[in-house]
Amino acid sequence: VSRFEAITMAPPDPILGVSEAFKADNDEKKLNLGVGAYRTEELQPYVLDVVKKAENLMLERGENKEYLPIEGLAAFNKVTAELLFGADSPVISEQRVATVQGLSGTGSLRLAAVLIERYFPGAKVLISSPTWGNHKNIFNDARVPWSEYRYYDPKTVGLDFEGMIEDIKAAPEGSFILLHGCAHNPTGIDPTPEQWEKIADVIQEKNHIPFFDVAYQGFASGSLDQDAASVRLFAARGMEIFVAQSYSKNLGLYSERIGAINVVCSSTDTAARVKSQLKRIARPMYSNPPIHGARIVANVVGDPALFDEWKAEMEMMAGRIKRVRQKLYDSLTSKDKSGKDWSFILKQIGMFSFTGLNKNQSDNMTNKWHVYMTKDGRISLAGLNLAKCEYLADAIIDSYH
Ligand code: PLP
Repeated sequence: VSRFEAITMAPPDPILGVSEAFKADNDEKKLNLGVGAYRTEELQPYVLDVVKKAENLMLERGENKEYLPIEGLAAFNKVTAELLFGADSPVISEQRVATVQGLSGTGSLRLAAVLIERYFPGAKVLISSPTWGNHKNIFNDARVPWSEYRYYDPKTVGLDFEGMIEDIKAAPEGSFILLHGCAHNPTGIDPTPEQWEKIADVIQEKNHIPFFDVAYQGFASGSLDQDAASVRLFAARGMEIFVAQSYSKNLGLYSERIGAINVVCSSTDTAARVKSQLKRIARPMYSNPPIHGARIVANVVGDPALFDEWKAEMEMMAGRIKRVRQKLYDSLTSKDKSGKDWSFILKQIGMFSFTGLNKNQSDNMTNKWHVYMTKDGRISLAGLNLAKCEYLADAIIDSYH
C-alpha cells in the first residue's frame, strides 16, 4: 500500500480544465472560448512581430544566461513601472515604488499576498464577486483571509456600483481592496472614471489599501495610457498602492511568465524596505526570475521604434476583438426573436464577454453545441472569429431559452 493513500485526486482547474476537455472533443464545430488567450482570425495562436524582432536582437547580441538578481532585470523593472504609472509620474521621480519582477501576474499577486500575510496579520483582502478564479486560490494558499464585495448585477448584466461602495465601506478599516485595473475578468464591466473617483474616496475614508491587478494594460482599449488611468488616478492622490502586472496578454508572452509587483509607498525609504522584503519572499520560493521575457519587454519598451510597433499590434489585436464583439451582438440581435436586449455585450470591454448564461445553460453550450467555456457564463472573444459568430449566436439563444 502506498504511503500516499491520503492524497486524493484534485479537481480539474475550472479554466485550464476547459482546454483539456476541448482537446478530447472530436467534433469539427468545436470552439474553445475558455482560456483567455489571443487567437488570429484563423483561430491560431499569435506571436507578435515586435516580440520576434526583440528576440532576434537578443540573439544577435549573444546575451548570456547568468542568474538575474532576486528582484529581476533592472532594465525591465524600470520600464515596467514607467509604463504603468507614466514616466513623468512623481511616484517614479521620487523613487517611491518598490518594483520586483514576478512570475507573471499570478506570481506577482502571490508575492504581494505573502507580504500581506507577513506584515498585516488578520487583514482581509476584498475581491469582487465574481472575479478571476485564481484570486481565491492565491489568497487561500498564502493564508490571507478574503471576502467578496458586490460587483456584478445580474439584472442589468452591469456594475452593481451601490453594492460595491457599500461593501467597501463596510469592510474593516485597513482592508486590502483588490481591483481590476481595466477589462474586469470575467465580466468585462469596468467602472466609469467618475465611479473610480468615488471608489478612491471610500478607500481613502476607510484607510484601506488598494491592490490593483493589471493583466490587460493596452489590450482593453488599445491604449496603454487609457488602460492605466484607474491606477494613475489613485497614485495621483498620493495613496499607497499595490499593483500586480502581467505581460501575458498585451505582449502575448503567456508562457514566458513575465510581470511585476509594484508597491507605491509614501517615501523612498519605505519603498526600499518593502522591496527588500519582497526579495526575501522570492528567494526561498524560486530564487530569481526568468530572464527571457524580461529582456523582450525591456527591448520593446526601451526602443522607440519597437515601442510604436507594439502599440500598433496591440491596437490590431484589440480591434479584432471589438469586431468580433460587434458581430456577435449583431448575430444575436437578428436571430433572437424573444426581444431580449443584448446591448450589454457591446458595453463590456476586453477579451471576455459575460453572457449571463448560468451553469446549466453553459453545460448545454458545451454538451450540445461543443462550445467550451467556463461555467460562470464567461466566453473569451479572443478565441472567436467572424466566421463562427452566427454559430455561437445560435448556441447562446438555444441555451438561454
Ligand atoms: N489577473 C487576471 C485578472 C487575469 O485575467 C490573469 C490571466 O488570465 C492574470 C491575472 C494572470 O495571468 P498570468 O499569470 O498569465 O500573468
